Amino acid sequence: MSITEAILWVRERMENALIRSGRSGAEVRLCAVSKFHGAAAVEEAYNAGLRLFGESRVQEASGKFAGFKEARPDARVHLIGSLQRNKAKSAVSLFDCIQSVDRDSLIDELGAVTRERGSPVPAVLLEMHTAEDSKSGFRGADALCRAAEKVLSYPSLTLSGLMTMAPFTDDENAVRRAFRTVVSAKNMLEARFPGHWECLSMGMSNDFEIAIEEGATLVRIGTAIFGERSA
Ligand SMILES: *Cc1c(COP(=O)(O)O)cnc(C)c1O
Repeated sequence: MSITEAILWVRERMENALIRSGRSGAEVRLCAVSKFHGAAAVEEAYNAGLRLFGESRVQEASGKFAGFKEARPDARVHLIGSLQRNKAKSAVSLFDCIQSVDRDSLIDELGAVTRERGSPVPAVLLEMHTAEDSKSGFRGADALCRAAEKVLSYPSLTLSGLMTMAPFTDDENAVRRAFRTVVSAKNMLEARFPGHWECLSMGMSNDFEIAIEEGATLVRIGTAIFGERSA
């Protein structure tokens, strides 16, 4: 299957999941995760109509996207992998959104490196920990509330929602439970800090249909679009 065909197939499955769950007509953004895939693959996905890309490393992403975005101003790229504080400055100049904000010290660093910038501030999502096999993310309501307060204390950051990686398992119920945990956290946060939670980034190649059924507004899909990664 070509990248173009794979995108059509993913979109059809997204649409069917929306219909199944009674969300038909709701907008779910498709973020094509292009990590470890080259510029030609990104180009093909762009030509097939995709405008949003996800990368997990700052350096790899800037090689691939700095020039690409200049030539195609409607392309967007989100950081989805863990960010070291010393890369925060280059991250905010490349990425339109940092989805993987997973600790307080990173929020402070992002606040500091964006303070002097006049131009578009990056959006940030708080990453919520829902999988035992993962280490990253805020755990529980209190940690998320404190993180939200911290982000909101920096006028140069835009708080836009939550992101999670569900457990990597065939147990559909465990995956669904993880997504439901995020949705209830989002409802709690919306009540306390209204207006900052429109983005729910959850769902990858192996679980995006479940994520959409549970309320995702953005899915991050690599393998189902670009094929297996070699690295
Ligand atoms: C790699 C990655 C994805 C995409 O995973 P696939 O299984 O290839 O769709 C999504 N989200 C994050 C955070 C990732 O690191």
